[in-house]
Formats: sequence, C-alpha cells, structure tokens
Amino acid sequence: MEHSISALILAGGRGTRMGRVDKGLQPFRGGTLASHVLQRLAPQVASVTINANRNLGAYSALGAEVLPDELEGYEGPLAGLQTGLRHCATDLLLTAPCDSPFLPPDLAQRLYDALNAQGADLAVASTLETGEDGKTRTQLHPVFCLVRKSALPALDDYLQTGSRKMDGWYKSIKVAEVLFNDAAAFRNINTLTELQNEEDAAANPSLKDVASCLSGYDPDALPVRNAQRIIRDFIQPVRGIEKVALRSALERVLAADVISPINVPAHDNSAMDGFAFAGAQLKADGNTTLKVIGTAYAGRPSALKPGPGECVRIMTGGVMPDGCDTVLPQELAADLSDVAVTIAPNTVRTGDNRRFKGEDLGAGTPALRKGKVLRPADLGLVASLGLAEVPVQRRLRVAFFSTGDELRSIGEPLAEGCVYDSNRYTLFGMLQRLGCDIVDMGIVKDDAASLEEALRTACECADAVITSGGVSVGAADYTKQVMATLGDVHFWKIGMRPGRPMAFGRIRSNGHSAYLFGLPGNPVAVMVTFYFFARHALLHMMGADSPGDQMLRVRSAQPIRKKPGRTEYQRGILATALDGSREVRITGSQGSGILRSMSEANCMVVLHDEQGNVAEGDLVDIIVFDGLV
Ligand code: AMP
Ligand code: MG
Repeated sequence: MEHSISALILAGGRGTRMGRVDKGLQPFRGGTLASHVLQRLAPQVASVTINANRNLGAYSALGAEVLPDELEGYEGPLAGLQTGLRHCATDLLLTAPCDSPFLPPDLAQRLYDALNAQGADLAVASTLETGEDGKTRTQLHPVFCLVRKSALPALDDYLQTGSRKMDGWYKSIKVAEVLFNDAAAFRNINTLTELQNEEDAAANPSLKDVASCLSGYDPDALPVRNAQRIIRDFIQPVRGIEKVALRSALERVLAADVISPINVPAHDNSAMDGFAFAGAQLKADGNTTLKVIGTAYAGRPSALKPGPGECVRIMTGGVMPDGCDTVLPQELAADLSDVAVTIAPNTVRTGDNRRFKGEDLGAGTPALRKGKVLRPADLGLVASLGLAEVPVQRRLRVAFFSTGDELRSIGEPLAEGCVYDSNRYTLFGMLQRLGCDIVDMGIVKDDAASLEEALRTACECADAVITSGGVSVGAADYTKQVMATLGDVHFWKIGMRPGRPMAFGRIRSNGHSAYLFGLPGNPVAVMVTFYFFARHALLHMMGADSPGDQMLRVRSAQPIRKKPGRTEYQRGILATALDGSREVRITGSQGSGILRSMSEANCMVVLHDEQGNVAEGDLVDIIVFDGLV
C-alpha cells in the first residue's frame, strides 16, 4: 500500500490566526510543527512533499521536496492540493496540515481501505465530537484526506469556478468518510497560545501520565522506589537566578558553570622552601654544587636567571626563575652555606617540587559545574579565581502547616486529649537546612473551608506546599478531599514503615501552582517521608545535583524484626564496638509517634523491601544523619 501513496504536508497558509508567522516552522517539542507531521507521515507512505509558499529553504532543510502553490495569492488548501496532485508520482496522495503533530499512525491505511472498499475518489477522516449541548455529532476533517490522482481534472474545474472551499469540492466527487475514534490525534494548533499550552503540557505531564510509565502502578501498594521515581519524573526545577556575593553563596545551588578566567597557579612555582635550578646539571655519580645567586620570595617577582652551575634560593610559592625546573628542598641539602649548596646524588630528580602553571585549573576550563551545592571548598576555589560573585538558583519558597483539631501551638495551654504541634518544628529544621525560604502557616483545623483556604494561600505564595496529618483514613480528615479538588493529586499507600499514607501532586489556585507533599501526621513518619521523598524533590526543584542516599553497610549489634514486602526505616545508633569495628543498634521503641527515637538516633537503618528478619551480626544498610537534613 505505502508504495502507491505519497503524502503532502499543507504548509502554504498565511498563518493568520498565529499572527501571520509561518506555522509549520514554529518550534515544537524539540523540532518544528512540520517536522513532527513529517515524522508521523513518513512511515506511512512512499515519499513526503511539503506545500509551502514562504521560507522554502527552511522546509527543504527537513529533507522533503517543497512545492509552492501554482495559483498565486495564498488561495488555501485546495491550491496546495492541486499543486501536489500535479506533481504526484503515485496514484494516491495523502494530505495533512502542518499544524497537526499528533496525527494517527494508521491514517493512510484506514483511508486507503475505505477508498478502495467504496470505490471513492477521495477518503476523508472524521471523528465524533460532543457539542456544548451535550449532543454527539460527526466532525469532518477535510484536510486529512486520501485522494486519487485521477481527481485532478475535477479539482481544476472546481478551482476555475473561483470557489476555494474543500468541502465544496467534495460535493462534486465521490467521497468516503472514515470515522476515527481518537479525536485528539486530529487536533491542530491554531494560535501561539495553543502552541504554548501544548509545550507546557509536554513539559508538565499529568501525574497519571508519569505514573502510567511504571508497570503495575497501584497507588494503594506503592513500593518506595516507585514513589520516588514518580516524584522525580513529575517535578520540574524552578526558574530564576540571582548573583550573590561569594560568602552568601554557601549552601546555595550554582546556577551556571564557573569558568576559570585565569590559570591557577598563574606561574610555575616552587612547592618547597629550597633551591631552584636546571635539573639537567644533576650528576648521577657525585655531588652537584651550585652557586646561590639570590633569593626568590613568594609574591615578589625576581629577575634572577641562574646560569650553568648556579641556583636561586626559593620560598614556597615563589615563581620559578627562568631556566629552572627543579627544586631541592632545603632540608635535603648535603651541604649548605650562604653562597653555595651541595646536592648528593639521587636526592632529587629533574622536575621535582615544581608546581606547573594552570595545574590546579587552566584558564577557560570549568572550575565548578552548574547544579553544585556550594560547600566551603567551593567558596575557596571561586575565591582562588578572583571572582567576587557567583550565579545561584533563587531560593525555593516552601509553605507548610499542620492539620488536626487536637494540635496546640507552643504557648497555648494543653487541653485534655491535645498534643503540642511538633511537626512544624521538625519541618522548619529540615527545610532550613535545605536552604529554603520558609512560610510557616501554623495549625489548620480539620474543616474543609479552613483547609481549602490554607492550601490556596500556600499555593499562591510558594513553590511547594508541605502539610502534615490528615492523609490517612481518619473520619475527620478532610485534607484528602480538599487536596483532590485543588489539582492533580494522588493519594498513596506506600510500602514502608513508618509513613505509609502520603499525598503527592500539584495544586493550583488563581493561576499559581505548587507541588504538594501531604505527609502523614505521626512525628517520625513526617521526618521519614520528608527525608526520603520531599527532600530529593525539593533539591531537584532547586536545580541541585543530588547524589542518591549514601548508604554504608555495618554490622547489626542485635537481631531486628522485619517483615518482607515493605521498606522499614528504623532509627539507629552507630557506634564503635570494643574491637574497634563499627556496629549499629536500634533506638528503643520504633513507634511512628515516638520522636525520641529519632532524636536519640544518629543514623537510619534502611531495611529493604525484600529483606526479612536481621540476625545479630548481619550487615545492614544505614544512612548517617550527619551532613544530611
Ligand atoms: P493523622 O495523620 O492526622 O491521623 O495524624 C496521625 C497522628 O499524628 C495523630 O496521633 C496526630 O495527633 C499526630 N499528629 C498529627 N499532626 C501532628 C503534629 N503536627 N505534631 C504532633 N503530632 C501530630
Ligand atoms: Mg489528623
């Protein structure tokens, strides 16, 4: 079939609704609209031609033949079709507009089957659409058609009459209508706003799209690694860069590579206090005695130029004098006076103790890469390049609140059955350490109106919203209902302990959007879910390169009970055993409400999904808290 069909992309329009830009050439998902149409058509036909009336060179660069209309004056799709049919090398011509990058992969096949079955001159695609009145009707897509070359005389006659309407011409020939059930495949992009929306949709896939990439996605039994993966694939980094003074850049995320403007060090120099000379004159079988002609200090250029049999006394960092390539450390001299130094054989080799110009960093090479979270060494490195400022990602704004009628804030009396809100303080600490701008929204009551208002306010002022409580199945937990109405939010039961229930997604309010992490209420669960889900996501939003969790394997000093089929995060104390080796113990009770277990711990013992009971002496994975949030 393919051999009897060529395709024509209709790109000859004025692009009136797009502000007269050349539609087919508009950038779209890494290519242009026309290149996407071409990619979809090419596998279905023998060859593809593009009908265009402007920018012919840009269209031929796509690798297709380009034909302008024979009729002058942008006379519409029929003018393109006429030209296409005149130059068509096959019996059949398939047309598609340049702004329909989603067209069906079986367009040619289905039109072909109908054309032949009905003995028609032309087959045209149609879909079922539901109107505003709720009624379903057939929508014809006249520019998606397969036409016989033999219909050209009829088209010439029709155009002679001055008419230009596609469906008008269809009335004069035998047409087969073919119903496609994927209406979305025929959608075309008419305005720049639609184009932008499509680009945004591609850049911001729905949570469902992201989750469906995992086989067997079940929100009620989600393994930790799958939840982490969905979050990672769904989250997009925020935009915004600021230049800050070097000291303020500590712990910030570098927003662009730092390129060294200079060689570091700027000159060859000495790594030791000693004597610089040309190594070629070292004798292998006897002492070498050199005359000292002067001293080269660090930071003070000298014009000293030792000749044969001469050397220069040099300080660490002193610029290597001309002709010198070797330094004898002072303490290795066999004999030393104010005027001469003697070197025993085999004390130094040529090139020893010399630092090369640019050996730390060459001018023009990247000293630090974008995405690095700047640590003290990095500040020093940037300073060594003489740079006073660095570009960093803007700080992430994170709003959070606690939910629950039983919660009281510090300073309030504790009524019966109530607890003080501790989650806002652990969250504060963890977010502060991540370098976020923090918006603490306090405690929100378990009622729908208050929750909606709080979520909306948080969404409008922050990049991410973190809540605690209300995401399990409790009767007074309206949190889930309200979250679901504000955006694209999934509720998960994660195969982990503590921290099984969690909400994740993106909420919207008044044109703003924010990622949402609905963490469980129990104080340990909050920390664990923050650490293993939210923290990575926030780092990704900040544009930071975050290495995965760095685990160590150490011996368990005790047996640990563990059910296979879920990941357990037990709080541990890493210590040095009597024999000097490292071992880990579990802090007392591991209940998810017992914050003391977290406070006493210095590491998390990670017992993986498939793992069962741990015997005393078994090796287990741990993540140490130091250096983490
Ligand atoms: P929930 O997920 O809302 O059912 O909460 C689970 C448990 O965590 C309940 O015992 C809550 O009282 C407790 N809890 C929820 N939020 C907090 C908080 N902010 N501080 C301390 N405990 C909390
Ligand atoms: Mg609650």
